[in-house]
Amino acid sequence: MARKLAAGNWKMNGSRAALDALEALADSAGGAAEVAICPPFPYIALAADRARGIAIGGQDCHAKEAGAHTGDVSAPMLADAGATLVILGHSERRQDHGETDADVAAKTQAAWAAGLRVILCLGETLEVREAGRTLDVVGAQLDGSVPEGATAENLVIAYEPIWAIGTGRVAEPAQIGEVHDALRARLADRFGAGVAGAIPLLYGGSVKAANAAEIFAVPNVDGALVGGASLKPADFAPIVAAL
Ligand code: PGA
Repeated sequence: MARKLAAGNWKMNGSRAALDALEALADSAGGAAEVAICPPFPYIALAADRARGIAIGGQDCHAKEAGAHTGDVSAPMLADAGATLVILGHSERRQDHGETDADVAAKTQAAWAAGLRVILCLGETLEVREAGRTLDVVGAQLDGSVPEGATAENLVIAYEPIWAIGTGRVAEPAQIGEVHDALRARLADRFGAGVAGAIPLLYGGSVKAANAAEIFAVPNVDGALVGGASLKPADFAPIVAAL
């Protein structure tokens, strides 16, 4: 059984003042589930200082350790600032920055080399879903984005249908279950059933307090990657409590 995880992806939101939320969240957490918050880069070190048991993560990293890459941040820097996790391959990175599966795989290797746990995101467009190609597309993303060397400790997979992100339109439990079952089987083919069974599979896309329990009841769902509803402890704490 994979350990339960609720991870908040603040995206390009937040402020120093918003970090007060971490203390409120830490007070309400403390159950069996792990809780993580991934703020924008400038807040990582500040967040790590105030995390009190909440894991702090980045939202991207460069594939190289250092060098002439203006505006980029490396995995060792994230770790040095106190992050233990990094989100990689989010659809907003794939769309806005043209990241390919190969880029995500290279970044994943860099993150692992720096000792970070990777929350690796996959998901289909509405067009792909309506064409009935979801399992093929998501399976190919998994194959291309996850390098050799995945373990239950260094990898988390987040299935995030693009049409459900920030739209208020959540995937049906049966749709989530079908993809998660397929991802677990595909991971088992590559890494063995023991490792595959212990890699947390998160769902992401308009998860809220009102729908969290129904989503977490789906077999092979081990938690959630939460965007909008992770910004306020009053919204995020009930999701953590539902795990
Ligand atoms: P959302 O975002 O919860 O706001 O839909 C999820 C994500 O993109 O990680």
